[in-house]
Amino acid sequence: ITILGLESSCDDTAAAIVRTRDDAAPEILSSVVAGQTALHADYGGVVPEIAARAHTEKLDLCVEEALEDAGLSLRDLDAIAVTAGPGLIGGVLAGVMTAKGLSAATGLPLIGVNHLAGHALTPRLTGDADYPYLMLLVSGGHCQFLVAEGPETFRRLGGTIDDAPGEAFDKAARLLGLPQPGGPSVEREAAKGDAGRFRLPRPLLDRPGADLSFSGLKTALLRERDKLVAAQGGITKQDRADLCAAFQAAVVDVLAEKSRRALVDYLALNPPAPLFAVAGGVAANTAIRAALETVSANLGTAFIAPPLALCTDNAAMIAWAGIERFRAGHRDDMTLAARPRWPLDAGAAPMLGSGK
Ligand code: ATP
Ligand code: FE
Repeated sequence: ITILGLESSCDDTAAAIVRTRDDAAPEILSSVVAGQTALHADYGGVVPEIAARAHTEKLDLCVEEALEDAGLSLRDLDAIAVTAGPGLIGGVLAGVMTAKGLSAATGLPLIGVNHLAGHALTPRLTGDADYPYLMLLVSGGHCQFLVAEGPETFRRLGGTIDDAPGEAFDKAARLLGLPQPGGPSVEREAAKGDAGRFRLPRPLLDRPGADLSFSGLKTALLRERDKLVAAQGGITKQDRADLCAAFQAAVVDVLAEKSRRALVDYLALNPPAPLFAVAGGVAANTAIRAALETVSANLGTAFIAPPLALCTDNAAMIAWAGIERFRAGHRDDMTLAARPRWPLDAGAAPMLGSGK
């Protein structure tokens, strides 16, 4: 099966082609990502209208480039998969309309994909992840522990009660005058800083369960920054690096401890081959990956973190999720709708001991 995937739910326009043959590992034949960081740089965040227009302008070019890189034409494809939500509605619509156009022109089946399923199924594209596995989906807009039982079956074991960590990294960067996206900026600064100089809170660690919280962390960071500004009239480069290091260390601690608890709960269900995987943009953070790997190792559990470029938004994950849905017999048609909200666990069966 060879599928073209399209992604345009946030600020990356992407197209990719993924192929599977029998039992061989899936192959990413091409993966094109056109970012929009520069377009939004003056606004301190993604501007939905600007994003939607840029997606509309770039989608066709990305498709052409993905086909060319793979050395294929539309005739070689079996289906077209597209992110149908959740995300910024203008961008999602642009992708869905492009996919419908391609489907109408070629007669190829259309498959709507949940962007979060794209992240959550990435460990199966890049590694040896059989269902079921425990997944930490940690991104710009989401943070949840999910048991992946099948391409469309996810059970939630816990999640953030306020901000997502990616959002927290982005806000932290903004507070400290660092460029967006904040995750990579903060990680870079943190490497030069002393994590012990400022003590930031570890929200919700005192409460049982696998729910997380990140909004207090950002407020605490703001308070430390303001104290420095009041005392010195500003912050030095070293202050900034130390604040980033403290912030990242707090996120790492919270994610590691909550992952440990989710994993203990998951292991209690006696899964056949225990596996813990992480995906989503924040999974590109080296300190977070290392901490989660240690948590897994301590509990004797296999661990997968996809390559960095497949953690942040891309279309290979959408093509792959499309392949999984295609194999399961799913097909969409011209009535496929763009959905701004689309929770992953909406269709899942009620869970044993769910925190939800
Ligand atoms: P969602 O997937 O929840 O809809 P999104 O698609 O906007 O949101 P992703 O592309 O999956 O988000 O992830 C982007 C987020 O990941 C941003 O908030 C960014 O700051 C964060 N991020 C990227 N790289 C790193 C890193 N090295 N460390 C921490 N965070 C990172
Ligand atoms: Fe994403």
